[in-house]
Amino acid sequence: IDPIHIVGGGLAGSEAAWQIAEGGHRVVLHEMRPVRATDAHQSQDLAELVCSNSFRSDDANGNAVGLLHQEMRTLGSLIMRAADANQVPAGGALAVDRDGFAAAVTAALEGHPNVTIVREEVDGLPPAEWGDAIVATGPLTSPALADAIARVTGADSLAFFDAIAPIVHRDSIDMDKAWFQSRYDKAGPGGTGADYLNCPMNREQYDAFIQALIEGEKTSFKEWEASTPYFDGCLPIEVMAERGPETLRHGPMKPVGLTNPHDPTVKACAIVQLRQDNALGTLYNMVGFQTKLKHAEQVRVFRTIPGLENAEFARLGGLHRNTYLDSPRLLDATLRLKAAPRLRFAGQITGCEGYVESSAIGLMAGRFAVADRAGTPLAPLPQTTALGALIAHITGGHILTEEEAGKPRSFQPMNVNFGLFPPLDHAPRNETGKRLRGPEKAALKRRALTDRARADLAAWLGDDAPRVAAE
Ligand code: FAD
Repeated sequence: IDPIHIVGGGLAGSEAAWQIAEGGHRVVLHEMRPVRATDAHQSQDLAELVCSNSFRSDDANGNAVGLLHQEMRTLGSLIMRAADANQVPAGGALAVDRDGFAAAVTAALEGHPNVTIVREEVDGLPPAEWGDAIVATGPLTSPALADAIARVTGADSLAFFDAIAPIVHRDSIDMDKAWFQSRYDKAGPGGTGADYLNCPMNREQYDAFIQALIEGEKTSFKEWEASTPYFDGCLPIEVMAERGPETLRHGPMKPVGLTNPHDPTVKACAIVQLRQDNALGTLYNMVGFQTKLKHAEQVRVFRTIPGLENAEFARLGGLHRNTYLDSPRLLDATLRLKAAPRLRFAGQITGCEGYVESSAIGLMAGRFAVADRAGTPLAPLPQTTALGALIAHITGGHILTEEEAGKPRSFQPMNVNFGLFPPLDHAPRNETGKRLRGPEKAALKRRALTDRARADLAAWLGDDAPRVAAE
C-alpha cells in the first residue's frame, strides 16, 4: 500500500506522522529544513518551537487549552508525550526545554519503522502520484508552495499578513453600560437590527483613550515583518490614533446611527462596536481594533472602555505574518480541500493559532487519514470537546455577517477557548443547589464544561477509550 505523504515537519506534521505510523500505515514526511530555512526557525529539528517555550495552562478542569492537552494525551499524542518528558518548572503552565522537546519528537519519528523523513522543499502542490497527502507547512509556508496553494484556493483565500483584533467573552461585558444595536438599526439577512454591542465614550474618556493608545507600549516588528506593508483598511488602531486625535471617532469609533438606551439624551463622543464572532454568540470581536500594542497594554487600555471594565479576552490583538486558508469555505469537516479531496491540511495553515492547537489539528488530520485508509470514516467529534470545538471553528463554526460576506475573507485564527464550546444546558449550581455568582460561578461553569467534554470524548471513543482521569 502507498505511503501517506506529509509536507512540513513542524508541530502539526510531526503529530500527524506519528498518528498515521501508530495507526499502522507508512508515512513519508517532507521537511525543507535545513535545505531551506524559514525566517523564524533556528534548527533542523522537527517540531521546533519558534518563539515561547510554553504550551500554556495545563489545568484540564479550568482551562480550555489544559483540557486540549488532556484530550491529546488520551489520543496518544507524540507532542504531548515529548512535552511531558521535557517539562521545566512554570507554575500551572506546561513549559518545556525546547531543545529536549524537539529532539525527543525527532528521535521518536526517526526511530519509527513506518516513518521515512525526506529533507527537501516541496515547491508545488503534492504531485498526483503521491495520492493522499497532508499539507502542514505552517504560518511560514515557503513562497513557492504558498503560490501553488493560492492558485487552487484563489489568492483571496490565503492570507499572508494577519491583522487581528481582540475577542471578548460576551458574558464579561457590562450590559448596564453597553447595548445591542446595529447602526441605523439596519437589519441584514439573518440580522435583527441589533447585531452589534456598543460601548459609549464621552469626550473626556475618548481623549484619555487616544492618549493611552499613543503612549502604550508596542511590540516591535521583526526585521522580516517590517518590510510587509499594512493592508489598507486594517491599519493598527494606534497608527490611526497617531494620525490625529479625531481620526478614530471618524473611523471605526464613529458615534453615528446609534442611541444609548441607558441615557438617550446624551450624545456619545465615540462608540466602540463589537460584533458577534461565533455561531454560539459567546464571543464578540472589537471591530477595527487590530493592534500591535503589547498584550498587557491591550488589557489595561481596552478595560478603560465603558462596559469593558471587566472584559475577559478570548484572544488579544496582534499583527504578524501568517499564511492560513479561509478554511470554513475551503475545507470539509475532515480537513480535506473540497476542490481536491486527496489533499488534507493541518496545523496553523488551517487557521488555528498556537503550538498546542496546531498539534491538535495535526493529530486529527492523521486520524482522519488513517480512517480513510481503513474505509471506516470517523464519526464527527462532539463540539463539546476541545478537539471538536477547534475543528468546528475551522471547518464551519464561524458565521458571516452581511458585511463580512461581501468581503473576500473574514475567518481569523484563534486559540482554543471556552467561547467555542456550546453553552451548558443549565447554569451550574453548587452542592447546596444554590445559584452562584462571580468567580465561583465561572469556576463551576468551567468545571462543568470540562466534565462534559471528558464524558463526550469517552463516548466518542467508545470501546477504544482509555481511562480518562479527571485531574
Ligand atoms: P510549523 O511548526 O511552523 O511547521 C511547519 C514546517 O513546515 C516547518 O518546519 C517548515 O520548515 C516546513 N515547511 C514550510 N514550507 C515547506 C515546504 N514547501 N516544503 C517542506 N517543508 C516546508 N505559537 C505559540 O503557541 N506560541 C508562540 O510563542 C508562538 N510564536 C510564534 C512566533 C512566530 C514568529 C510565528 C511565525 C509563529 C508563532 N507561533 C506561536 C505560532 C506557531 O508557529 C504555530 O503555532 C506552530 O508552530 C504552527 O505549527 P505548524 O506545524 O502548523 O507549523
